[in-house]
Amino acid sequence: MIRTAPATLDVSRLRMWFELVSKAIGEQRDQLTLLDAAIGDADHGANMDRGFNAVRRILAEYGDEATAGEIVCAAGSTLMSTVGGASGALWGTALRCAGEAVGEARELDATMLSDALQAALDGVVELGAARVGDKTMVDALDPTVASLRAAVAAGAGLEEALWEALRAGEHGMRSTIPMQAVKGRASYLGDRSVGHQDPGATSTMIIVRGLAEALNAADD
Ligand code: ADP
Ligand code: MG
Repeated sequence: MIRTAPATLDVSRLRMWFELVSKAIGEQRDQLTLLDAAIGDADHGANMDRGFNAVRRILAEYGDEATAGEIVCAAGSTLMSTVGGASGALWGTALRCAGEAVGEARELDATMLSDALQAALDGVVELGAARVGDKTMVDALDPTVASLRAAVAAGAGLEEALWEALRAGEHGMRSTIPMQAVKGRASYLGDRSVGHQDPGATSTMIIVRGLAEALNAADD
């Protein structure tokens, strides 16, 4: 049977998003640690794994009667309170801004998701002041959002827009390899940061991929 993805992400799929991210981060924890060992302090895998495990535990207390904003804000607040590193404050802020943007909605279409991710990006940039090219998560999130917005403006549905955004974001993630870090711990290395993929850009694309997977997951 051919199954088509739904046109929206409802609250149940938003919860599934965080479950899938928590699982994927757990599976790729060592890879994230290795990336951060090369240009940081080797805690990114542990930071994200601890944070998203806590998110999964917190969201288990929410039912499908919750609003999208409650789910996404709770995830952001949990990351903030459980992750010590820069990534906790940055992704925590991103999700809180996204959660505020979606508010009382119970399902997100392509436009609402693109507005939410734009708010997430704006929150990260406001807090961390990184620009594209600085070798941070912004190098992944910015092209993700730009592509999502362009696809929505061109009339794409959520599934198509999200897969295009994922491809653009992964391209941005890989573009961090030749960059010299200007922000965060990796900037202390100067030109020795060149040649390594940014850990935060890498985990950012795990988070974005989780959205596409949640949309495509079978109904439970
Ligand atoms: P810490 O650097 O405190 O050890 P993590 O290792 O968990 O925290 O996260 C590192 C990641 O945080 C980097 O790979 C980068 O993507 C991101 N990051 C650091 N500083 C900034 C910033 N100012 N703006 C955006 N992202 C940043
Ligand atoms: Mg680190």
